[in-house]
Amino acid sequence: MAKKKKSIDTKLIHAGEPEPRIGGAVSIPIFQSAMYETGGEGNYHDIQYIRLNNTPNHLAIHEKFASLENAEAALVTSSGMAAITTSLMTFLSAGDHLLIQDTLYGGTHTFVNHNIENWGVAYDFINGHDPASWEAKLKPETKIIYVETMTNPLLQVADLKAVVDFAQEHNLISIIDNTFASPINFRPPEWGFDLSCHSCTKYMNGHSDIVAGAVTGSSEHMEQITHKLNHFGGTLDPHACYLLHRGVKTLALRMARHNESALKIAEFLQEHPAVDRLNYPGLPDHPDYERAQELFDGFSGMLSFELKGGLEAAKQFMERVELPIAAPSLGGIETLVTRPATTSHSGMSPEERKAVGITDSLVRVSVGIEDVGDLIADFDQALS
Ligand code: PLP
Repeated sequence: MAKKKKSIDTKLIHAGEPEPRIGGAVSIPIFQSAMYETGGEGNYHDIQYIRLNNTPNHLAIHEKFASLENAEAALVTSSGMAAITTSLMTFLSAGDHLLIQDTLYGGTHTFVNHNIENWGVAYDFINGHDPASWEAKLKPETKIIYVETMTNPLLQVADLKAVVDFAQEHNLISIIDNTFASPINFRPPEWGFDLSCHSCTKYMNGHSDIVAGAVTGSSEHMEQITHKLNHFGGTLDPHACYLLHRGVKTLALRMARHNESALKIAEFLQEHPAVDRLNYPGLPDHPDYERAQELFDGFSGMLSFELKGGLEAAKQFMERVELPIAAPSLGGIETLVTRPATTSHSGMSPEERKAVGITDSLVRVSVGIEDVGDLIADFDQALS
């Protein structure tokens, strides 16, 4: 079996699959049972119950996800936000301090600056591109440094190696939201990150039909996060586990197409006279291109841009495109377009958005797996 699980493409199919197969089933069945007959468990967390994240569907997917990122352990959660908030609140208590990147998914940003102070936790935003400025914000109470692999929606790639070094030097837990890259393009534990969070609503599931999350990391950290989630209750239902398990098996194929098509669309947009600013770290003139090339195996299917005609032009583009669906979220097989100021980042105030460079006219594209020629032709007609 060890041979079978060698590359990530193979692990997606075989890692974590029950051995022996249950009743010979090639696809893991759905264990839709809330509770299980007790077998003399001595510990609360070992009692088999859906909220305790230990049904056969959970155990199989945990093993698969851990193997994808070469982590010791993994946990799936009821949403990406459940993964992020549970990971943070496992290691932060009243009196503690958090260092967190200033450009982030809007939900994470709002969770931090509207909530955690109520629980006595202090925080400072950091510029992920300027490691020299982090030390000044460090406090004796700092416990965690948190970043995103590629920031949502500006696709910036912070100095991720410096984040790991800083965490190790100052005894902090390093957490990264790896949603945009997926384990195909970046595996945070290989680079020394302690915890990697995902919104599996996006690439991991890939079919825009469930909301789910995941965390991977060391067995020690993951046991603490699992026990916290067991009490917080943000558990993924077995039926959703099954859908995620089914969806993730094609991740390598889907990501290859997302990576390839987004690069072609970025190259097309870069040359288009209507486009003002384009954010895609796979283009050689993106400021973070060299870093992205060193760290990533692909640049993902996400890009964002502004048009010379500003907000009106952005609105017109969104109305004129025919194949992409105007909808929030990302990472599915269909191309989606959105203006983050009205969706993913609408929880931030206009001033907060402005401070990090998210304008009202910014358009974000999640490139799907349709024929890229059809997509480019559609973008072209919508822009002209
Ligand atoms: N992280 C990133 C980068 C996201 O884009 C999102 C959602 O858009 C989340 C986390 C939150 O995920 P979920 O909606 O599954 O809670």
